Amino acid sequence: MKTIQPELNFNLKNFNTYKLSSIADVAYIPNTIEELVDVLKNLDNFVILGAGSNVILSTTGIKTPVILTHKLNKIEIAENIVSVECGVKSAYLSKIVAENSLSGFEFLAPIPSFIGGAIYMNASAHGQAI
Ligand SMILES: Cc1cc2nc3c(=O)[nH]c(=O)nc-3n(C[C@H](O)[C@H](O)[C@H](O)COP(=O)(O)OP(=O)(O)OC[C@H]3O[C@@H](n4cnc5c(N)ncnc54)[C@H](O)[C@@H]3O)c2cc1C
Repeated sequence: MKTIQPELNFNLKNFNTYKLSSIADVAYIPNTIEELVDVLKNLDNFVILGAGSNVILSTTGIKTPVILTHKLNKIEIAENIVSVECGVKSAYLSKIVAENSLSGFEFLAPIPSFIGGAIYMNASAHGQAI
């Protein structure tokens, strides 16, 4: 597989909840898990961004390559097995799961995260944690 080309001088303003303008020297935006794995194999040092709701980005810019996960947003539901890519919004997952008559993710509804960030941070609310 050919490694995806990074975006250069990429403004992360729309990728953090504070809407801080922060220019990443290099940003990778994988469309698939395979592309993400390939990017990870080729980088020694990197920062992964979810919904950017628990980070304060430097307004002087980011030298370390940034990996954005918002395009990794597939959900598969087979009976009571829910498979989710890391860029799915927590609130959206909460809604979809409820619409499929499954329970347990209601607490994620108000948290402005992606599932990858929620797992990394162990997001919690109302006595429940991911
Ligand atoms: C208005 C508001 C309300 C909030 N309410 C709650 C709440 O009720 N409960 C709660 O627990 N938190 C809450 N938070 C905090 C925040 O939403 C959580 O910490 C959330 O889990 C962060 O997820 P994110 O996708 O935004 O991660 P980011 O902020 O993008 O990243 C956070 C960390 O996770 C890492 N990360 C992100 N995605 C991945 C990935 N795919 N793989 C590996 N590492 C990854 C990042 O590198 C970073 O270190 C709130 C924040 C805001 C702004």
